[in-house]
Amino acid sequence: SNSRALLGLLDDVLDLSRLEAGMDKVFLSVCDLHFLVHSMLDVGHLNMAQGVELVNEGPREKLLVMTDEVKLTKVFMNLIGNAKKFTVRGHIAVGAEITSDGTWVECRVEDTGIGISPENLEHIFDRFYKVNEFKQGTGLGLSICEAIIELLGGRIWVESTLGKGTTFYFRIPYRRPEEEDI
Ligand code: ATP
Ligand code: MG
Repeated sequence: SNSRALLGLLDDVLDLSRLEAGMDKVFLSVCDLHFLVHSMLDVGHLNMAQGVELVNEGPREKLLVMTDEVKLTKVFMNLIGNAKKFTVRGHIAVGAEITSDGTWVECRVEDTGIGISPENLEHIFDRFYKVNEFKQGTGLGLSICEAIIELLGGRIWVESTLGKGTTFYFRIPYRRPEEEDI
């Protein structure tokens, strides 16, 4: 498991360097958000803390968007991984929808975990920043999420109440697939 942790760290460092050097490209393809959220939850169920419920608030049926599925998956994995790490009871909800004006795909990962204080919240996207040094992790996950979402032309933000829970939101431009893409 130490080897796996080391590989994960290397992956994160390389990911972030590539993103920051502007060397990472966006690969658009047709992605079904309903299926994506579903598979995120499938993976999320593995080594879940007992007493935490995973809730699917994704699209109820097929919802096709043009996006970089690999990068979007990476963002979800990071946010769900964090939610799992900092939540021991209650729920973790994953949602995705098109905003009512039809311009964005807006996603969220909500938890009823330990929450983040306003002072710490300001630094949460900084590289290597961790509130608790003793918790597992490098403090790169959110920096990677932010860099990916910016590359995709969107933004990411967070709302949190200490002791109550945290919700990360991000939105990326909604591109409807053309007939010939599908
Ligand atoms: P890594 O993701 O590199 O393995 P990490 O999870 O510590 O390590 P980030 O994902 O960047 O790093 O998160 C930074 C810090 O933000 C965390 O260490 C934690 O203190 C805080 N944090 C992130 N998500 C949550 C959350 N859902 N609830 C409470 N605190 C959080
Ligand atoms: Mg993390």
